[in-house]
Amino acid sequence: MSEKKYWNEELETMPREELEKCQLEDLKEIINFAYENAPYYKRSFDEAGVRPEDIHELSDIQKLPYIDKKTQRDTQGVGSFLGELCAVPEEDVIFISTSSGSTGVPTMSPFTKKDFDEFQDTESRWFWQVGMRPKDRYVHALNFSLYVGGPDVIGAQNLGALCIWGGTLPSERLLFVLKTYQPTIIWTSPSYAWYLGETAIKNGIDPKKDLSIKKIIVAGELGGSIDSTRKAIEELWGAEVYDFYGLSDIFGACAAMCEAKDGLHIAENHILVETVDIHTGEILKPGEIGELVFTTLRKHARPLIRFRTGDIGWIDNTPCSCGRTHGRIHISGRKDDMFIVSAVNVFPSDIEAVVRELGGITGEYLIRIFEKDYTCKYAVEIERNNDNPETDEEISAKVSAALKARIGVKPSAVIVHPDGGLNTRSEHKSRRIIDERGQTYNI
Ligand SMILES: [Zn+2]
Repeated sequence: MSEKKYWNEELETMPREELEKCQLEDLKEIINFAYENAPYYKRSFDEAGVRPEDIHELSDIQKLPYIDKKTQRDTQGVGSFLGELCAVPEEDVIFISTSSGSTGVPTMSPFTKKDFDEFQDTESRWFWQVGMRPKDRYVHALNFSLYVGGPDVIGAQNLGALCIWGGTLPSERLLFVLKTYQPTIIWTSPSYAWYLGETAIKNGIDPKKDLSIKKIIVAGELGGSIDSTRKAIEELWGAEVYDFYGLSDIFGACAAMCEAKDGLHIAENHILVETVDIHTGEILKPGEIGELVFTTLRKHARPLIRFRTGDIGWIDNTPCSCGRTHGRIHISGRKDDMFIVSAVNVFPSDIEAVVRELGGITGEYLIRIFEKDYTCKYAVEIERNNDNPETDEEISAKVSAALKARIGVKPSAVIVHPDGGLNTRSEHKSRRIIDERGQTYNI
């Protein structure tokens, strides 16, 4: 049984025409259900002059209005505890998670029993996809408090793996768990995977020899999709790293890498993906970069119809070498983190990719975004390796040229610190962007 390649072969390798036929059926059903049961959708579809029976093909979704985080906030708690986007009575809801609230009031995401079971089946599928099998020991080192990624551990248990609910243990205790129980797979954030590996070494533990971690799942930050960052973590641990992508509004992981590590397969049986131009809202074709817009096809507690995720990326529907037919998404970053320098869209992930692949520096970085002469500029601070014979000026020039080559616009400055001088290493999400626009900054 553990020899099968796919968690659900029929679903994961379904020809695209058939997959799209299933999507259309579910789309019609969920649009109708949302219209009949969620006060917000009834109102917004009526205002747009669209009725559920106007949906005949997948592209008809373009007739419907978008929603976003603001829609969620504005309707939350209105009319009922769960609010106007919710389409079931509260007694049918068995679980809510909430967003972190890092960009405003936290939004809550409700699940019916069926929503939750399908969520966990999807998570089992991702775990299986990265090679988890019942013989594996798995440490779920994600926050359990309110966070939608917490319950994903149930997906690993349903698969049959031995699960250790690590949560956000302090590093020393987590290293004790890794050393004593010798788990084979762990899920954490990319910056924490890096921090934990370095902490292990400082404590005399060689992650490659003294621990048994063979696979690291990362999510919550972009690092797993940045080749140089992913390879640096793989090298540190002697393990394979796979990126997962989740949304507090949908599932702990909505999409996941396979062994090809070329984008993340998205659960297209649950999510219909569109990409739209961030400024005009114009619909883009696969391969074109824009904001990802998700429609949940099967979540009944709170259907999300044309939800603007705030994440920038592109869709790839070409066949993958792993045999799965579900499309892949490539994420460039958050719309909120993008900044524009000399008419070029700059993502912090592009800067990270450069800083992590150059030799002679530690890979730590800080980005400062500021205004000078009424135009947006950026500066990058990095750390040199202690054994690097180059001068600070040489390092600065090298990094600056590499940034110009990748991004197209040079930073105003590259400031070089000694190893450890940046103080960006952290147990939690690292703060690496300082936006000083609107303030005076002399450089
Ligand atoms: Zn694949």
